[in-house]
Order: sequence, then C-alpha cells, then structure tokens
Amino acid sequence: MSPPALARVLRALLAGCALLAACGASAGPDAVAPPSVPGQTTVGGIKYSGKLTQGGWLRGVAPPGTRAVTLGGKPLALAPDGAFFAAFDRDAPPSVQLSVTAADGFGLAMPLAITPRSWRIETIDVAKRPGKMPDAAFRERRAAELKQIGAARALRSDVGGWRQAMIWPASGRISGAFGAQRIYRGEPGAYHGGVDLAAPAGAPIMAPADGVVVLAAADAAFTLEGHLLIVDHGMGLASAFLHCSDLVVHVGDRVAQGQLLGHVGMTGRATGPHLHWALTWQGGRLDPQLFAPAGR
Ligand SMILES: [Zn+2]
Repeated sequence: MSPPALARVLRALLAGCALLAACGASAGPDAVAPPSVPGQTTVGGIKYSGKLTQGGWLRGVAPPGTRAVTLGGKPLALAPDGAFFAAFDRDAPPSVQLSVTAADGFGLAMPLAITPRSWRIETIDVAKRPGKMPDAAFRERRAAELKQIGAARALRSDVGGWRQAMIWPASGRISGAFGAQRIYRGEPGAYHGGVDLAAPAGAPIMAPADGVVVLAAADAAFTLEGHLLIVDHGMGLASAFLHCSDLVVHVGDRVAQGQLLGHVGMTGRATGPHLHWALTWQGGRLDPQLFAPAGR
C-alpha cells in the first residue's frame, strides 16, 4: 500500500475509534473498552499494555513522528523510539482521556477505563489522636526534609528502569498493603502510600529496576522516613525506600536492577524492622504490588 493510501486507512481507523469512544452506548462489536489488564492493545497507532486500575500503570509506544501524547491533559514524555509511561494514582477517576496528536497534526482522543479498587478501610470510633504539637525546631527540620524530597522527585534522569518488569526489593511477606486507610470518627487519616515488607533488620535491599540515586539520607536520618533512599527510574517514575539501617549507594550513582542499595532497618518512625517501598509518578502514588511479580 502506498504511503498516502496507508495514511487514509489509518485516518479512517482513527476516526472510527474516536467516534466509537465518544458514544459507547450504541457502539458496535469493535468498540469494546480496553481490558483492564490487556496483553497489548492498539489504539490509533499507539500500542500499550499495563494494569489499568487505581495505583496501576501503562507502557506504550507511539508511531514515529507522533507530536504529542497526553493523559488526562498531562503531556507524556516520549522516548526517541516513541515509548512512553503513564500511571494512575490510588484515587484515579474511572476514566482518563488518552490523546494523541499524529505527525500530520491529526488528533485522536480515547477514554481509558481505569478499574476502581476497594481499599482496606478501618473505621475507628475514636477521635484522631491530637499527638504532640511539633515544636518549632521539628517544624523547621521537617520543612527542610520535605524540600529535599520534593527537589529529588523533580529530578529527571535518562535511565530506562521504567521499561523493565520490576523485581521485589526485599524478600519477606507483605505486612502492610498499599492504599489502606483509617477513618477516625469520620475523619480520614492519610492512606498507606507504599507496601511494607516484613524483612529482618540487616536484610539486603535490592534495586527493583535500573535507576539513578536522587536522594540518599545516609548520614542524618530523616525524622519520619529515617535513612531514606530515592531512586529515579526515568520518565518520572521513582522508588522510595524508608527506615533503612544503612545505605551503600550515593546521590548520582546509576544502579542496575538487583544491585544492593542498603539494608532493612527501623530508622525514623517505625515500630519494628521492615522495608516501606513506595512508587510515585508525577505526584501520584502507585501500588508496588502492581509492578512486581505476583505470588510471593
Ligand atoms: Zn509503610
């Protein structure tokens, strides 16, 4: 088929997609919404696969020359080969718009169905503990720590960990699931932003995917996170490891999947030794269990 003919066919297919996507009620057999755990789905020349659910992710490839891909209005970075990554926050809405602007400026928008999940919610009939009023020294120290975390998360490295199937950073059962939340007399507490792995103190912590170390609180432990390590996996996807006993990598180090990063501990606010592993993408919190292999 000649390139112009191919372009016409592609355009017709794209137009079909857009129309069907906009009026799902009268859609024909081809208008089935993308499955929530697709092998690989093709929409308007874009191929993608992933876990399209709250806390999940998507990896895709856009055709050569694609001008832009946005998700929920946010522009996604495209790698030189057209590959991209996106993810869905714990509280992502049931539908997010994926928009593509092709090489010739032709646009296509397609809603992606994001499967909602039910989180472990514990309702407690006591008021939220007021806790000790933090003193001025703590507030000042905490503000500096949060600034450091924010600056580290804003760094973008040219690294391909985001393309990899992740491995678990430590062995041990999951003692705290992502997303769990307590409600104190109607007042919600913060939800659990990572998974807790019950590993003994001193157990090794391995890189779940390739990355660059963007924060390593090796000397001074952070007030809540203790010896905190943040690894950027590229495309805005980052891992954080909390409560470590020690770290063996430094800011700027490139780490390979499986490489030793440090050891499990209980520094910062922790009641016992464990590894809290958190994954974030563009400010959204993701469920590590959707990135690492099932069946621990
Ligand atoms: Zn935790």
